[in-house]
Amino acid sequence: MYTGALAFTLAQFAPQDAESKLGEGSWNMKVAAEICPICEGSGWKSVSAGAERRVTRCDCRLQARSDALLTAARIPKRYEHCELAEFDTRFHPSLGPSLLAAVKFVEEYPLEKTGLLLVGTIGVGKTHLAVGIAKALILKKAIPCLFCDYRELLKQIQNSYNESAKTTELDVLRPVFEAEVLVLDELGAVKPTEWVWDTVSLILNTRYNENRTTIITTNFEDQPSANTVRSLSPARAAARDETLGDRIGDRMRSRLHEMCRIVRMEGEDFRQKFRSASFR
Ligand code: ADP
Repeated sequence: MYTGALAFTLAQFAPQDAESKLGEGSWNMKVAAEICPICEGSGWKSVSAGAERRVTRCDCRLQARSDALLTAARIPKRYEHCELAEFDTRFHPSLGPSLLAAVKFVEEYPLEKTGLLLVGTIGVGKTHLAVGIAKALILKKAIPCLFCDYRELLKQIQNSYNESAKTTELDVLRPVFEAEVLVLDELGAVKPTEWVWDTVSLILNTRYNENRTTIITTNFEDQPSANTVRSLSPARAAARDETLGDRIGDRMRSRLHEMCRIVRMEGEDFRQKFRSASFR
């Protein structure tokens, strides 16, 4: 009899947010369909710890949970290969500290819930790191994550306004509001309008108010908008590159500073540098 140990182990694996959201039934169905040779479908296996024997979750359950969370994260195919372990830091001195910040984030979450804002030019590996973080959170900690492309999201919201659309704006936004950890890729990539600013504010403020973690990538320099840089002559202001402040507004940029730690990444475009089949 080892009921004590069972109770302890059960408590350890008590359905987390992830499991309750996906529904216990989905694990049961999968296990029942495949009948694991180790646990024979019970979802529990016995292990020995010295003279004592305990029961713990069977590997098939853990695998099923990871698979379901990975599917639910909606990571695009072209980024499925991205792992923290595969991130090469040799190309620029900024990449080592960036990878370290990503690894530390995974280690400390959820005790530390401040997100990351990965800033840098195209192809320096921002999305790779962001996806690597999401996958590590899923596989190591069973944390539900969601990948969301900023441009795609705004398009989907706009499409939901069509009369023939079957989805509403809230249908599109709900998963983005509710994801425990959201990867928001390419923030600022859509030409700013009043509507874009309102939508970004709604997303960021909702997540901020709910204390939810957001990992953001952007190609725009984390600088204020032209409006606030009064020292620039009109000609220089017109010639300067657009900044994050220009693209999402200064208020939202300052909100981001409350929600995220800034990670600056530099280097060349990885895709240009290594045009080999494995990196396409
Ligand atoms: P960004 O988001 O900064 O535009 P990506 O993360 O999309 O860049 O990188 C483009 C491609 O190059 C991806 O396939 C990614 O896996 C790869 N890549 C970029 N930087 C690195 C790196 N330092 N190590 C390994 N792969 C990288």
